[in-house]
Amino acid sequence: WPGHPKRKLSYEQLQRILLEVPSSQRAEEWSRYYTAGPHLAGKNYSQAVWTKNKWEEFGVTSEIVSYDTYLNYPVDHRLALLEKEKNADGASVWKVSYEAALTEDVLAEDPSTSLPDRVPTFHGYSASGNVTGPVVYVNYGSYQDFEDLIRANVTLKGKVAIARYGGIFRGLKVKRAQELGMLGVILYSDPGDDGENTEEKGKEPYPNGPARHPSSVQRGSTQFLSFVQGDPTTPGYPSKPGVPRLPVDDAIPSIPSIPISYQDALPILKALNGHGPKADDLNQYWTRNVGLRYKGVHYNIGPTPDNVVVNLYNEQEYVITPLWNVIGVINGTISDEVVVVGNHRDAWVAGGSGDPNSGSAVLNEAIRSLGEALRQGWKPLRTIVFASWDGEEYGLVGSTEWVEEYLPWLSEATVAYVNTDISVEGTHFAARAAPLLDDVIYTAASVVPSPNQTVLGQTVYDLWDKSIKTMGSGSDFAAFQDLAGIPSLDVGFDARNGDPVYHYHSNYDSFHWMEKFGDPGFVYHRAMAQLLGVITARLADLPVIPFRAGDYARALGRYVKKVEDKLDEALSPSAELTAASLLDDDAYFELRGSTRNLSTVLTSSSMSRTPDSEAESFRISLERLYKALHKLDKHATKLDRHADKLREEVGRHVPWWKWPARLKLWLDIRKVNTKYKYLERSFLYEKGLDGRPWFKHVVFAPGLWTGYAGAVFPGLVESIDARNWKNAERWVGIIESRIENAARRL
Ligand code: GLU
Ligand code: CA
Ligand code: ZN
Ligand code: ZN
Repeated sequence: WPGHPKRKLSYEQLQRILLEVPSSQRAEEWSRYYTAGPHLAGKNYSQAVWTKNKWEEFGVTSEIVSYDTYLNYPVDHRLALLEKEKNADGASVWKVSYEAALTEDVLAEDPSTSLPDRVPTFHGYSASGNVTGPVVYVNYGSYQDFEDLIRANVTLKGKVAIARYGGIFRGLKVKRAQELGMLGVILYSDPGDDGENTEEKGKEPYPNGPARHPSSVQRGSTQFLSFVQGDPTTPGYPSKPGVPRLPVDDAIPSIPSIPISYQDALPILKALNGHGPKADDLNQYWTRNVGLRYKGVHYNIGPTPDNVVVNLYNEQEYVITPLWNVIGVINGTISDEVVVVGNHRDAWVAGGSGDPNSGSAVLNEAIRSLGEALRQGWKPLRTIVFASWDGEEYGLVGSTEWVEEYLPWLSEATVAYVNTDISVEGTHFAARAAPLLDDVIYTAASVVPSPNQTVLGQTVYDLWDKSIKTMGSGSDFAAFQDLAGIPSLDVGFDARNGDPVYHYHSNYDSFHWMEKFGDPGFVYHRAMAQLLGVITARLADLPVIPFRAGDYARALGRYVKKVEDKLDEALSPSAELTAASLLDDDAYFELRGSTRNLSTVLTSSSMSRTPDSEAESFRISLERLYKALHKLDKHATKLDRHADKLREEVGRHVPWWKWPARLKLWLDIRKVNTKYKYLERSFLYEKGLDGRPWFKHVVFAPGLWTGYAGAVFPGLVESIDARNWKNAERWVGIIESRIENAARRL
């Protein structure tokens, strides 16, 4: 305890070190190293070894933990626009009217763009195939976008989809297209989604300005991530050498897909001009952020006539190959209270300065700073485990396999998982977290100075909108949260409102871009290293775990209210919906990812539906959840109050001969900490969510058709979406018993 002769550093001294030691120069140095080497999952062994050695240099015992995983590497591809023409003899022949480049321009200013080991443009876990057919423009390719197309009688079967990137996870776009009988999917980056920094609005593209380079391509996984995570051949168990492997049919696409730049998309989009309805004829969801009208695209939906087709060819080699997590440990005094801190190391591109190397540089700086504290004699109360994950990009593979392997120990011992992925891509601080961790983030953010000192002394907290989102998926926290029920958080500086366009998963996510546009001076890297250090220290070294159970109970109340709102919507089709253009991105994609028929609501807003008596009686069931939550809230508030008392007491100076009182205090703290540690675990349901049994958490999951955005009470909400009241009742029962159990355990 503070004051114990063996404790050489007080928490305050430790925090001072973690704020002072991180340096922009060192972060830049790490960034320079990580952005220069080979990155792809299963191909970055030298960086794993380097990372392990660095961590050991910093004073952290480390090892490489490997798994044999199922991955694909690109072999060949082609995308061409073909038009049938009559030749001189009057016979019909196919002519190539556009051959897509499928590669990003080499820039003299940016050495990353000419590295010999740069990665071709392709999709992780995409299917090999060679398909030819007319094209249909499917907007973002969200569930609702496809519903709109079906309603507008656009033929999808036998056609090739061209979808813009954005909002929902790319693999789910391919999944829906596949379900609807489409042949293949082309995904492109529409500059309309880039905000203010576009060529259309007079900004110069990279490398001369902040706009998107027209040849930039977003690579990325097309795994069906809200249905399965990790190695798709080993759901639920670790991919150790020789393990049995399951078929992958439901986990990854069977139709080919290909990512392209907007430069390559232009001829295809223009070939759609004049064919089929226009985006404007559908609804406002289709005209939001369209960014290529000034280039002559009319945003017709198509399909193109049978004599205008695309040929999409994608060849992938599938292998079972090792990948390498680096795991480091600082042993604490308490061995069964563990904090895990991680970021991934694999990248799609030669540089990857934002994704993930800003995170890798930041994690190194945080570890170096904690190492400095170790050198000054510090030993944390709790054990800290660091992870540099491999295979995140394909489907959170390295982290998921590791969680699957160590699940019994992690469930027993882990207090929290702290994730950072893209630590810096812009200047706007963003956080996602389990509600138990909200307070840690607020407190840590308010002691870290913002790199923006236009107002002297302002902190990261001061410049933040203070919103903490729920966790969906898309980074390495997923297995911790969804499989193991470990409270998790994810932090980073996002690119928003005027920040230069971040070239996500593109060759232009390079050291040069970061140095010139993303984070000149690496000052945001430094701030993130400070933040990560302080978050880790609070979780690992404050005698009473800094959780707020009351925050959890109240958040659950808000989520039940959300379910109620959803029910209201389902029951009154005349509910007025905000215009699409007014919705922020998250609300927009949450809405568009839902399987509920909202467009019907939009177009029939004056009609009313006969009241649904089953639904009405279901509403009463929700009362049960409020009742259970009331109990939880009561117990949680009591626990927090008790914890606050212990926090106060432990800080007070006590003469040594009062050790019996001290011992009692420590036993009390241990009891409170154990309650905090297991609270989130109460919300696991062994059988998992309907149709996706890997996901065990009844409160949080990636939205079925959003992927990135989180769903709350997914089982319940999906049942309401499907108007399956019986199943909704079942979920109320499952959730209620979990809340009651949690209340009992507190
Ligand atoms: N960060 C990766 C992406 O968004 C995650 C891939 C996945 O979860 O499958 O592409
Ligand atoms: Ca597995
Ligand atoms: Zn990443
Ligand atoms: Zn990524």
